[in-house]
Amino acid sequence: ARKFIVGGNWKCNGTTEEVKKIVNVLNEGQVPSSEVVEVVVSPPFVFLPLVKSLLRPDFHVAAQNCWVKKGGAFTGEVSAEMLVNLGIPWVILGHSERRLILNESNEFVGDKVVYALAQGLKVIACVGETLEQREAGSTMAVVAAQTKAIAEQVSNWSNVVLAYEPVWAIGTGKVATPAQAQEVHFELRKWLHANTSPEVAASTRIIYGGSVNGANCKELAAQPDVDGFLVGGASLKPEFIDIIKSAE
Ligand code: 13P
Repeated sequence: ARKFIVGGNWKCNGTTEEVKKIVNVLNEGQVPSSEVVEVVVSPPFVFLPLVKSLLRPDFHVAAQNCWVKKGGAFTGEVSAEMLVNLGIPWVILGHSERRLILNESNEFVGDKVVYALAQGLKVIACVGETLEQREAGSTMAVVAAQTKAIAEQVSNWSNVVLAYEPVWAIGTGKVATPAQAQEVHFELRKWLHANTSPEVAASTRIIYGGSVNGANCKELAAQPDVDGFLVGGASLKPEFIDIIKSAE
């Protein structure tokens, strides 16, 4: 069975005081044990050491990005090696905000994923279509191409979580219906079955992101191919605890 995993992507938000408040709420939350649900929170780089030092030990931290290869003369970047050096176990890669605003290509994201894995990081790799692509009927072609660029380079999937985040659902309040999420997750698993191996398809967690909140998480979590969530806005609020509880 695939262990449920809930990620909180804080994006580019927070002050030291706000971060401490969020961590306090998380630390006091009553949630199922880490055998039932894995919880990962992803603050901006500058708050990673603080969050790691304050956060309860059963929750883990993730960076929101890292550089594509070994560090060096790359102004403004943070390398996978640095994350490992700080004891940061996870990194989110290929978020649509980076693909679309910072022009990260499928190949570049694939390169990042394989490099981060080789350094020992666990990766939440994001895929998802825009509204225009969905309306053109190309949802599966888009997410398959994004996944292919990763699969071409990755052989060991045990440290990879795939996050399906339809762009039209991110920060819009327009959550995918449970049926829409399930359909794409099912197709992605089928794609993995055909293009990696039956074992990888059966064991890789595929999580949903896009306007997940305390009210809609239960029904989404009940879908057979939804193995957790990547939460944006609601991960900064106490309802993140309710989303974690949807694992049960
Ligand atoms: P929202 O939950 O704010 O829609 O963001 C989703 C997301 O992008 C998580 O990575």
